Amino acid sequence: MNVSIVQTLLDKTKDLSIDETLAFLANEYKGKVVFSTSFGQEDQVITALIAKNDLPITIFTLDTGRLFQETYDVFHKTLKKYKKHIEVYFPEAASVENLLKQKGPNSFYESVENRKECCFIRKVVPLTKALKGNEIWITGLRAEQSENRNDLALFEYDANFDIIKFNPLLRWSLEEVQKYIDDNNVPQNALHKKGFVSIGCAPCTRAIAPGEDIRAGRWSWESSHKECGLHQK
Ligand code: SF4
Repeated sequence: MNVSIVQTLLDKTKDLSIDETLAFLANEYKGKVVFSTSFGQEDQVITALIAKNDLPITIFTLDTGRLFQETYDVFHKTLKKYKKHIEVYFPEAASVENLLKQKGPNSFYESVENRKECCFIRKVVPLTKALKGNEIWITGLRAEQSENRNDLALFEYDANFDIIKFNPLLRWSLEEVQKYIDDNNVPQNALHKKGFVSIGCAPCTRAIAPGEDIRAGRWSWESSHKECGLHQK
């Protein structure tokens, strides 16, 4: 069933621009299209597209409680510039209190299990809440962000969250993303100018060196599959 919906969406949108596809989805799935932003470069392009066309797409963010000040700054600037409401999902206070009581504030450095536990509490649970009842989830994923994102499609069924994902910037290069931001004066996280490409929580993100893998700056002390449970790729 969901596989056939994905195929139908691929067929119906194959000749449409990104703007047209976003408008098509907003109309076809009224009130059930959401976009998750972490205010990274790709997400800022999508926010700009949604705002430019004043599309009825809900934008939300996950405030893990451990974000960089620079992320809050770009969040604030984005609100001011686009005057578009952004919903915020916070982790359950009791879960965070319990985690800190049991394991302290930096348990994510001690093991992959601990790290995943923190990501689950601070990201996966709030995301599950944000996606509930919706049908289309727009993301800023790009194929060149990591090897395992290479085989993503524009539309995908996400079995974990039982929702169809739309990845409009899938085939964009980082240079194209940066050009769109510069040409359209889109607010961006100041950390991008300091070598940060993929930006998540402050204790788990570092700048990367030129030529280093884009995802190398996330959970840099871990060697394998660097995902937090939001996206399987
Ligand atoms: Fe916790 Fe780090 Fe995951 Fe953020 S990225 S939720 S601080 S483990």
